[in-house]
Amino acid sequence: MAGLPYIVGNWKMNGTRAMLNEVRAIDRAAGRFPRVQVAIAPPATLIYRTRDAAEIIGVGGQDCHVQESGAFTGDISAPMLKDAGADFTIVGHSERRTLHGESDGDVQAKADAAIAAGLGVILCVGESEAQRDAGEAESVVAAQVAASCPQGEQAPEKFSVAYEPIWAIGTGRVPSVEDVAAMHSAIRAKLVELYGDSGTGVRILYGGSVKAENAAELLSVPEVGGALVGGASLSAESFLSIVGAA
Ligand code: PGA
Repeated sequence: MAGLPYIVGNWKMNGTRAMLNEVRAIDRAAGRFPRVQVAIAPPATLIYRTRDAAEIIGVGGQDCHVQESGAFTGDISAPMLKDAGADFTIVGHSERRTLHGESDGDVQAKADAAIAAGLGVILCVGESEAQRDAGEAESVVAAQVAASCPQGEQAPEKFSVAYEPIWAIGTGRVPSVEDVAAMHSAIRAKLVELYGDSGTGVRILYGGSVKAENAAELLSVPEVGGALVGGASLSAESFLSIVGAA
């Protein structure tokens, strides 16, 4: 596995300009952790100001449209994210897949559009509770990886997969270390099948109720190359304790 541990805050639909204080605090402290790559994905309205307020950390979007521009009211394209100062974007978060009906094919097109615009990509996959209970978690997630990852050769430093079991997002529940290890190694196998050797360097992040208390244990699992953090990324103090655990 290549690269530094990658700890990314997904602010979802949270944050106004007042949150830039948290950005500044995170950015200042990130300098103390040179062995960790830190980033925040604020709402699109704050990307430009977050980029301005931060010197060290990465800044990302949470979604992008597949087209570069056009009559798509309310949408934001990958080149626009890049222009606003984003380094990367999240695509395929389960909240987008569920609440906005995004299919694997949609997610793949978004990932391709982001890469074409020069953005890094964090592509989310994960099973529902019913799928896990039915013993289908690994096959569901492997199929998502196969059908939604970007096409063609990928530079590992620009592309990560985030495994986020839907039932663990915002619930305080996390899979066992054994289940995380098994899933991350299944995802790795699929990435190698898709990308050959370069698939070995793609970071696989874990996401879903990551907090200061469980971060060290989750991040010590083989093949866990970082964390995608929702709720606990909204305050600098809790986010930085996760960064510290990496
Ligand atoms: P959570 O969200 O950390 O609040 O569970 C993670 C995510 O949805 O990326």
